[in-house]
Amino acid sequence: MYPRFLEIEITGKCMYKCKHCYGRFPKPGELPLEKVYEIISESHGLFDCLIFSGGEPFLHPDLAEMVKRASKDFVVFITTSGFPVPEDQTERIKNSAVLVFGLDGIGNTHDFYRSVPGAFRNLMQAMDITRDLPKEIITTLWKGVIPQIDEIISLGEKYNAILHFNGIIPVGRAKDNTDILPDVKELEKVYKKLYQLKMTGGAVTTDLYRVTEMDKEDGIGLFCRGRFNITPEGNVRPCEFHHAVLGNIFERPLKEIIIQANKTALIKSRENGFRDHIRLDLQNPFDYHTRICHRIPL
Ligand code: SF4
Repeated sequence: MYPRFLEIEITGKCMYKCKHCYGRFPKPGELPLEKVYEIISESHGLFDCLIFSGGEPFLHPDLAEMVKRASKDFVVFITTSGFPVPEDQTERIKNSAVLVFGLDGIGNTHDFYRSVPGAFRNLMQAMDITRDLPKEIITTLWKGVIPQIDEIISLGEKYNAILHFNGIIPVGRAKDNTDILPDVKELEKVYKKLYQLKMTGGAVTTDLYRVTEMDKEDGIGLFCRGRFNITPEGNVRPCEFHHAVLGNIFERPLKEIIIQANKTALIKSRENGFRDHIRLDLQNPFDYHTRICHRIPL
């Protein structure tokens, strides 16, 4: 058994233009409250955890209501860039959600990556305001952040946050910004370090996974098993990084779309870790997303 996640991109609005953004946010589109209530009610039996994301979910005027309703039956996460996190909103979501902050460097390194001066200061303010709330930090392993890994680990400790280190998936804006991609040898070194930390009980999770011969038997230990995503236009996709559209919730019920999606070759293969599609000739053995997953037909 593994937890099944539904990520709901409730708004296309965003204040930043991050270099790796999978969805090229900001963009038009916003899910109305009533539609999100419908999604929450249809998620029973299909999902265990709901993630409210965007764009920047704190820019949706009804975020607190959505969280309140969802937290009755689901574990709720809010992924945020840390700007703007208004204090009155954090009061209203208190004890109902885990906050997941995107941190991609210390100081100017983070500002450069988020393309807005002051982004790091905003994020630190948001983490201070929410000091007593459960929180996680996601760091994307781009070239500029690799020398700062130790500082990020200390920052996670200071804020009592679980740390996630994810590889860059070359889709959306990351595809245009190839200069942010780290060297594969550097990734190897970081991978070993993070993997050791994880295995020795550190509050560190890494979604950086290196494809090996063994995966032909065991499959890849995918973080996205059981995961689906809904865009601000209502399109249901396998995850936020995948271009395939499985249906639209303004045309068909979510339940029907997910049940049908679970019968497709792509989702079936994902659920067994792509065992039958493992390729060992990958130039970057950490990119199984676009090199294996994206090539499996629906
Ligand atoms: S493996 Fe496929 S479904 Fe999983 S995160 Fe990557 S692109 Fe998405």
